Formats: sequence, structure tokens, C-alpha cells
Amino acid sequence: MSRVAELEAELSKAREALRELTTQVAQNEEKMRRSQQREFRLLNAADLFALFSELSGGLRESYGLDAVSVVLADPDHDLRHLLLAAGTPAEDIEGLKLVESLSGLAPQYVALRQPWLGEFRACDHQMILPEQKSPGSVAMIPLTYRGHLTGSLNFGSNDRERFRRELASDFLLHLGVIASFCIENTVNRARLLRSGFTDVLTGWHNRRYLQVRLKEELARAKRDQTELVCLMLDIDHFKRVNDTWGHAAGDAVLSELAQRIESEVRKSDVAARFGGEEFVVLLPDTDTRAAEKLAERIRRAISAAPVALPDGGETVITTSIGIASTRPAADAAELKTEGDALLARADVALYRAKTNGRDRVEVEP
Ligand code: GH3
Ligand code: MG
Ligand code: MG
Repeated sequence: MSRVAELEAELSKAREALRELTTQVAQNEEKMRRSQQREFRLLNAADLFALFSELSGGLRESYGLDAVSVVLADPDHDLRHLLLAAGTPAEDIEGLKLVESLSGLAPQYVALRQPWLGEFRACDHQMILPEQKSPGSVAMIPLTYRGHLTGSLNFGSNDRERFRRELASDFLLHLGVIASFCIENTVNRARLLRSGFTDVLTGWHNRRYLQVRLKEELARAKRDQTELVCLMLDIDHFKRVNDTWGHAAGDAVLSELAQRIESEVRKSDVAARFGGEEFVVLLPDTDTRAAEKLAERIRRAISAAPVALPDGGETVITTSIGIASTRPAADAAELKTEGDALLARADVALYRAKTNGRDRVEVEP
């Protein structure tokens, strides 16, 4: 081969190598651009529903996975209530699984600090990836909140080679950090929005919250075939407190009463400030007789000791309480109507307590 031909061959090889490199760079750039786009979509999710949809359906599609799930510990039902308040029950969100505790769900949770990659085993992973129907491989990416493990983002593939244990997982770790950040951020935003469910004076939940929870409790009572009781309390002659002692005194009475009621009810009961000097307590899975006893206890707790007023004085306060209950039929379709009717009947009982002399409990049959 002549020297010229040699050089030409070398040049052509070099050109080929350059072409390959250029293609690779372009492919890497495309990968990078797509991964940035995915992160951008996560970071821009407007609310929890949008975020969880991006995390499950969105990532499944863009990575061509066979199953994706987001498992999160929600011990206080906080997240569930946030979703409910935003109008999207957790059960309606594809791939989202809220649990009271991670323990027992998958053995990897005991020490999940880095993404765990490996074989999909039904006995270990079917609780976290129920959609994964055939054997394959799994990636469990830890999700954290303030340094604590709160759950995982789980990828399932029918391809056994897709998530092999020895695979580098920096990229998945990075994705987990982004996802955790987005969840924390969006939860905080939802909490802020929900502060629209809090009564500023008493710190209790307000009427809007009650309406949301009433529907939820009715659905539960319907499902479990249990009774839901509603107590409606109204302060007697409250106008006199305002007129005699001023509005600040009236406010102090309202706050103190909220505390006295709260100390009598269970954590699972739903208590809310319904209006000016009216409070409502929902008692799930309770019968009327037990509710009547509780109402009597609350009534006595309120009048038993005078309420201290801001200017140093004190006054005795009494309340009237109306009780109504319902056992929603299995075919009850309109829970909103059912809820309105329950409140209206409790109000009728309350009115009777007022006309029968106040400081008493009446039950609507
Ligand atoms: P009754 O025994 O029939 O219930 O008489 P009442 O005086 O309690 O009832 P009424 O509905 O006539 O008066 C309620 C009063 O509660 C009127 C309203 O100004 C007062 N009120 C409502 N919200 C607040 C509040 O947040 N702070 C104060 N200080 N007063 C309030
Ligand atoms: Mg009133
Ligand atoms: Mg009143």
C-alpha cells in the first residue's frame, strides 16, 4: 500500500470514529435532555395528583417500564386527608399506595438507604408492585423526608436483566432525591391550601372541613354498615356574653369551649366549629345511647366551671346539644344529601333543646 493510501485509510478510520463519537454525544445529549424534561415535569407538578401521576404513569411511559408504584408511609392519614380535601381520593390515583407503616411490606425497607436493584420476587414485592404480573426485575428507590425513609418509588420490568444488582444506580439515587423533594414541596403547598380548613380563632377545623369529612365518614358508615352520629352544640345566650363583656371575652369563651369539648371526644371523632358559636362533632361507629352519654358529659364539662375572661372576670356558660344519627343504606347514592339531612336533623334536635329550656341534650328520633 502506498503511503498516500495508508494515510487515506487512517483518515477514513478517524472519520468513522468521529462519526461514532458525534452520534454518541448526540444520544447522550438527547438522554440528558429527556431526563431534564422529566425532572422539570416533576418539579412543575401543580398539585399532589399531578405529581403522583407524573411519578407513576409518567415515569412508566417514559422509561418503558411494566409497573411503577409510589409507596408512602402515612401514619396520621395526613396525606390521605390532603388528597381527599383536594378532591382526589388516594385510591383513585394510579400506582399510589399509602400505608400506616412500611414494616412488613417488603423486606428491603429494613435498610433501604440506596436504590435496591434485583430480582422481582412475588413473595417480597407483590405488596409494593401489585401490577407486576410476571417474573422480572425491580428497582426500589428510597424516598425520604428530612433524612428519614418515608417510602419508595418502585420500578418493575419483565426483563430480568433490566435492574441487575451490580448496575450503577447513581441515576436512580438522583431521581429519588428529586422525587422526595417534589413530594415534600407539594405536600407543604397542599397543607398551606388546606389551612383554608382551619378556624383561626379556635384552631379547630371549620365548616368546610366538616363538609368534606362528613361525606367521607358517611361513605365509611355505608361501606361498614355502621351508624354515624352527629352532635350539634350551640352556646346559650352567647349574645349576652358579647354584650356584657365585649367581643374579646366572647372569643375567649369560644376558645375555652372548644378545648373543653375536645378533651371529651376521641381522636377519631371529627370536631369542627360549624358557625359563630356552634360546634359539630361527628362520632363514627357509635350508637345514639353512647352519643347521648357523651353529649351529657360535654354539657356538664362546659357548665361545671366558670370560664376565665381576659379582663379578669369569669362567667358560667351553658350549651344546648342536638343529636341525630344515620345508618346510610348500602344503595345510598347521594352522600351530600344524606349529610345535609343529618345536619338538619341535629339542628332540629338542637332547636328543641333551646325551646325546652336550654342547657340540655335532645335526640332527634
Ligand atoms: P341562643 O341561646 O338562642 O343560642 O342565643 P344566642 O345569644 O347564643 O344566639 P344568637 O344566635 O342570637 O347569638 C349568637 C351570637 O354569637 C351573635 C354573634 O355576634 C356572636 N358571635 C358569632 N361569632 C362570634 C365570634 O367569633 N366571636 C364573638 N365574640 N362573637 C361571635
Ligand atoms: Mg347559634
Ligand atoms: Mg347560641
